[in-house]
Amino acid sequence: MGLIVQKFGGTSVATTERIRNVSSHVAREIRAGHQVIVVVSAMSGVTDSLVGYVRDVSLLDEVEAYADHDLVVSSGEQVTAGLLALRLRSMGIPARAWAGWQVPIWTTDAYGKARIEEIETDNIRKSLANGRVAVITGFQGMTREQRITTLGRGGSDTSAVAIAAAFGAERCDIYTDVDGVYTTDPRIVKNARKLDYVSYEEMLELASAGAKVLQTRSVEMAMNHHVRLQVRTSFSEEAGTILVKEEDLMEKQRVTGLAYSRDEARITLSNVDDRPGISAAIFGPLADANINVDMIVQNVTPDGKKTDVTFTVTKGDLALALSALEAHREKIGYQAIHQDANVAKLSAVGVGMRSHAGVAQEMFRTLAEKGINIIVITTSEIKISVLIEESYIELALRALHDAYGLHAVVEKG
Ligand code: ADP
Ligand code: ASP
Ligand code: MG
Repeated sequence: MGLIVQKFGGTSVATTERIRNVSSHVAREIRAGHQVIVVVSAMSGVTDSLVGYVRDVSLLDEVEAYADHDLVVSSGEQVTAGLLALRLRSMGIPARAWAGWQVPIWTTDAYGKARIEEIETDNIRKSLANGRVAVITGFQGMTREQRITTLGRGGSDTSAVAIAAAFGAERCDIYTDVDGVYTTDPRIVKNARKLDYVSYEEMLELASAGAKVLQTRSVEMAMNHHVRLQVRTSFSEEAGTILVKEEDLMEKQRVTGLAYSRDEARITLSNVDDRPGISAAIFGPLADANINVDMIVQNVTPDGKKTDVTFTVTKGDLALALSALEAHREKIGYQAIHQDANVAKLSAVGVGMRSHAGVAQEMFRTLAEKGINIIVITTSEIKISVLIEESYIELALRALHDAYGLHAVVEKG
């Protein structure tokens, strides 16, 4: 029997009672003869509180502050790793807790969103060979200058997948509070259906479009390193959703799932001169300020001289983006900036879109029937996204979920 990685999210370790529950999932895999590496998140709500403490005391405008930010917000994972290792030992299962720096998990120095560069395996391998379960803190790593980093919110998923890849694990199970990946967020659409399989490509699009059940980078990493990934719940023994290669999908759905993100803000620059280099003049300063731009549309006036440029950034980056654009106002040469933070993005994803037409049309018709205005549209080969007013997002999700026939099949009898 090989090695497996089990990752437990915040709700799965939210209380000491739940940590006891988690230990039984570990025990089951040990009984089945596996070596086990466990990756844990902080108790749910803890990371939010830690981020709140940092905001209360600091404006976070220097690198040193970012490093200390990560030292603080990474601490929640240490509590759960220690508690789970203690619990396992008290059940007679040899175990040891490891902080990211003890593994070590080396990362870049982009505090708050560091990327894993290398995971050393010697220390843990020795410990596993001695029959000990390794319980590793998710979400954290260390720079070569020996400062603690964090991997971005939801980053424990990425820790788990990276560890599974580094150790060549047989499987990586992501235990969360839902029993798998659904056709859309089951908290919003009650008749959302659990998927038995989803392709890596679709999951990547769903995650990057806002389905937070897996962090985007973890899916990317699983795809690149061929990690066998399963999303399942820690509240039962039920099988979850297995990620598979697109060619192994039995049926290629036109639309597999819907995702949404409220973390969008719209900026429009009006009456910009339509000349070569204008996009570089607008987006260069944003890139320099480390701001990710998502959707972009440009409307040229009939005489071809002026253009309006609309794009989206995250709500958190809005103020920074506006000040970067103000600072370059002369060079860009726009008449006015308009902004709107009350917008949200809705996306439909499915590999079948590669070969079936009509998905976009159905989306536009359904939204029109509900009187929902579309502000921006973007597409990729297997995804269509629209930006709409935030207050309509739940209505739009439910309407599209019905229109695409994604709801659960009602069982007879
Ligand atoms: P964890 O703390 O275990 O990492 P998260 O809160 O990060 O859990 O992710 C699980 C949540 O993701 C679910 O509770 C659910 O509300 C949300 N979610 C959004 N989209 C989906 C989807 N398509 N399928 C399943 N869950 C989804
Ligand atoms: N505790 C971190 C967070 O809340 C990491 C994680 O849970 O994946 O974002
Ligand atoms: Mg998560």
